[in-house]
Amino acid sequence: MRFDPITYGSLRKHQMAAYSERHYGEREWRLRKVRALIFHYTAGPSYTSAWNTFESNAPNLGEYPGVCTQFVVDQDGTIYRLTKRDVRCRHTIGLNHRSIGIEMVQEALSSPAATSQAILDRGPQARAVVRLSAWLKQLYDLKMRNLIGHAMANDSPLFQERTSWRNDHSDWQAPQVRKLHRRIAGLIYAGHNRAAAPRGIASGALDSRSARPRRGSW
Ligand SMILES: [Zn+2]
Repeated sequence: MRFDPITYGSLRKHQMAAYSERHYGEREWRLRKVRALIFHYTAGPSYTSAWNTFESNAPNLGEYPGVCTQFVVDQDGTIYRLTKRDVRCRHTIGLNHRSIGIEMVQEALSSPAATSQAILDRGPQARAVVRLSAWLKQLYDLKMRNLIGHAMANDSPLFQERTSWRNDHSDWQAPQVRKLHRRIAGLIYAGHNRAAAPRGIASGALDSRSARPRRGSW
């Protein structure tokens, strides 16, 4: 993982706090309670173009700060962290105060499903997304159902918005997100099995049920 920070100084903090007050009713730029991960794709050609967009701090829907995301996963599997994990980024209306954004570099194809599927089919990138998501899920003890696509955000029970704004983005819809969930669960499950296996004993020799993480914790 590489730290490749965008500018998030006092101006952007001030703008983010004001945005939070308008949309969530609290003047705050810090991200204190992470409850969800939101999957996005950039609909652009490269990591550099995505970084430049997030750095530009251009107004979006007439408001500052500009859009941003905490993480970007490039097509070669490199994970870039653009901000500290404990700052809010504008990536998803109604959820910026309680979620981390994961952008994936991918141009838009014929449909949102095809675009997400292209990422799922690209080995290094998909594995990096799964690894990053599994790590963050465990770090913040997130429920699997709160790992969602941008296209699913308006329907999240965590969605909270004081204005009439709603998301109109179609990136990462439920069927492709379910495929990500299966891979994330598989990685966490495999990790638990490895951790439970004493040295010299293949994990397959163990009773896998005893190593299984509680379902409720997913
Ligand atoms: Zn998005």
